[in-house]
Amino acid sequence: MPAPGPFADTIAAISTPPGRGGIGIVRLSGPQAAAIAVKLVRLPSPLEHAHARLADVLDSSGDESTRIDEALVTYFAAPRSYTAEDLVEIATHGSPVVLELLLRRALELGARLAEPGEFTQRAFLSGRLDLTQAEAVRDLIEAQTLTQARQAASQMGGALSRRVGPVKQSLVELAALLEAGIDFAEDDLDVTPGHEIARRIAALTPLLTALEASFARGRIVHDGLTLAIVGRPNAGKSSLFNRLVERDRAIVTATPGTTRDLVTERISIGGIPIELVDTAGLREGPRSSLEEAEQLGIARSREALADAALVLIVLDATQPLNDEEHRLLAAVAGRPAIVAVNKSDLLEKSKLEKSDPGKAEPEKSYLTSSPRAEYSLPAAYAKEPALDSRTGGLIALSTSALTGEGIAALREKILALATGGAAAEPGMLTNLRQHRAVSTALAALADAAKANLAGIPHEMILLDLYRALWALDSLTGQTTPDDILNLIFSTFCIGK
Ligand code: GDP
Repeated sequence: MPAPGPFADTIAAISTPPGRGGIGIVRLSGPQAAAIAVKLVRLPSPLEHAHARLADVLDSSGDESTRIDEALVTYFAAPRSYTAEDLVEIATHGSPVVLELLLRRALELGARLAEPGEFTQRAFLSGRLDLTQAEAVRDLIEAQTLTQARQAASQMGGALSRRVGPVKQSLVELAALLEAGIDFAEDDLDVTPGHEIARRIAALTPLLTALEASFARGRIVHDGLTLAIVGRPNAGKSSLFNRLVERDRAIVTATPGTTRDLVTERISIGGIPIELVDTAGLREGPRSSLEEAEQLGIARSREALADAALVLIVLDATQPLNDEEHRLLAAVAGRPAIVAVNKSDLLEKSKLEKSDPGKAEPEKSYLTSSPRAEYSLPAAYAKEPALDSRTGGLIALSTSALTGEGIAALREKILALATGGAAAEPGMLTNLRQHRAVSTALAALADAAKANLAGIPHEMILLDLYRALWALDSLTGQTTPDDILNLIFSTFCIGK
């Protein structure tokens, strides 16, 4: 890690998004920030920490210069700024011409164009933010739902660091005890007994295990997940998809097999972003009888099914299970899947049409009793014991894409399955980097416990403890190698 700030150079960037807008902001950070800013604008009075000054933006630096905009100039003196350096924000009208003029002149006056995320990187390197907080800044900017924004804000406030802090502290104390024992062993000082080491490690493990487990929910809040909607053609997949999306996106037709490609849409259920994938029908029949495009669609469906975190199987309540559906149900056994027994509105009707040989026998349909009963599929399972044994545990509910019946319940089930029942908690792990750090620490602790049990010399146990400490330090960024840091900050936007 490079030596923390202060940095010799001053960086500048347009911090507002590209394009025209009501307001645009040029940001400067570094020792020359204020000196450069006062040359960019005509100020009525000197800059003062945390005060905004109304100033004129000049079109050039010469005596002939004229005012081309008004700006609000805010100065934050080191170390009480975002970057902990001198920082100036010049807010003008959001004209790309004015903003680019200001930026170009700032560069002429000695500033350097900031790299993506460099302001936050400086905040991190100066110790104002740790790495989990810096990551949270990016997450907040990229949040798509309020839940994600809240999660990011909590991490930005240090929730994760606060959770890790006490574990690190205890690890340091244990390491210090062992170190002391080694140093003073020759002086006949008591070395820490094995059971005491074991007790301390055992006390730390559950904290880290819980932290590691928090990734299950943290990751989903952060990344969202994919839900593949599968089922035979005409079961009502596109109609359910549209119901969930709440506007017409996929094409609905009455001819089987028309959704040939994957249609995706991002929705938010309970603040969790869910990418819905409406697949082509997994249609039965000899390959030759299916058009090429449709076959391609079916291949894509299978891929989507394989990739999706969640699966929504749509069955037609008026039709008995076909072989393909049997296979599908068997294929998702053990995976997070929901069965929507759709077209519930037609059930009563199909019972009435019992005598019609063209219609499905109601006895063979899933919802034989009350079409409104939410969990009617298990009753049908009872009729089909083979199916029951292969798919036990699947959540089934009755829906009608036509009337909207069961859609609210379907959303609830999707949310429950997405979160796996894991509750939101402060300081969740939200990305793979953080998860790896905690897993590494846990593995190192387990090694330490094993070594202790085997009576291995404390020098060796210490190596494991330091490995655990190093991993936790890398979580907060204290021991994160430069290239990793650069990689992390390069994913930020310019001007942040
Ligand atoms: P997909 O091929 O599985 O995507 O099925 P679609 O969503 O295209 O629906 C096929 C046909 O069934 C269309 O005519 C829909 O209007 C109809 N449909 C879909 N869901 C329902 C439902 O719940 N009740 C009724 N009565 N018709 C439905």
